Amino acid sequence: MKQQMVIGIDIGGTNTVVGLVNKDGECTENISFSTKQGNSFEDYFTIFVKNISDLITKNKDVEIIGFGIGAPNANYYTGIVENAPNLNWHGTIKLKQIVEQAFKVPTYITNDANAAAIGEMLFGGAKNMKEFVVITLGTGLGSGFVTNGNVLYGYSGFAGELGHTTVVKDGRQCGCGRKGCLETYVSATGITRTMIELLENKTVESELRNYNINEITSKHIFDAAKNGDKLAIEAFEFTGEMLGLSLANMVAITSPEAIFLFGGLAQSGDFIFKPTIKSFNENLLTCFTGTVKILESGLKGNMTAVLGSAALCWNELNK
Ligand SMILES: [Zn+2]
Repeated sequence: MKQQMVIGIDIGGTNTVVGLVNKDGECTENISFSTKQGNSFEDYFTIFVKNISDLITKNKDVEIIGFGIGAPNANYYTGIVENAPNLNWHGTIKLKQIVEQAFKVPTYITNDANAAAIGEMLFGGAKNMKEFVVITLGTGLGSGFVTNGNVLYGYSGFAGELGHTTVVKDGRQCGCGRKGCLETYVSATGITRTMIELLENKTVESELRNYNINEITSKHIFDAAKNGDKLAIEAFEFTGEMLGLSLANMVAITSPEAIFLFGGLAQSGDFIFKPTIKSFNENLLTCFTGTVKILESGLKGNMTAVLGSAALCWNELNK
């Protein structure tokens, strides 16, 4: 008998990663290709179909029973990707319908943060939890809210945009067109902006002064912090302070059992966790004291986004 598996797909601004995932959350094979194919969705989709068809043909002993896709601005309810920023696709793409027509299996889509939340619930650190939040710290800041065991999609399907709540009035310009959004401070790009401001406004020595300002990445800041670089540590402290305050506000509305930090910046250990937890505790409403854990994501390895997308599909098929 063929082994049943689903295909998990993470469509990012740069690359699309595809994996075969079994019901235990094991990714047995993966491929990736550039998301920036040509100038339209049609150009991209031709490559998408070719690559995935090849993967399926190669795995003859596997039965594909569904697709789960995480993509920017993907709406779970409508199956549509609407005006995705950072993608070369224009307007409204009926992604769920198009993929189902091409591959003849049930397909589910949502944004990457919601997919990460379902991945955490099925395969990660939230296996026995019904109330939790996953914060994805990548280029931006995404959030997936799970309440009573279900992802909160809201009336529009776009619920859970903690990254675009205003934390500084008239603050940093955000990609969404507004100013002072949380993700302009707390994300890989946010900490880099903070680091550049510190380098420009202070005279303290820093190994990051050896770089051209445009070359600095969050990885450089982490490496410098590990070397004891005072300014890099200060950048982490400021980032954690902003994040902890926002999480405390968020808890007043949602009261989760745990908050999972997911993504590159979340792997910076104490540099990000210590200031975040300190600021969180300082700003938390007293009745929530000791009720919320702030944890690193339980999804490990470099296929976490694919596992999240696959989990979305398994979760639907198990309903
Ligand atoms: Zn914004």
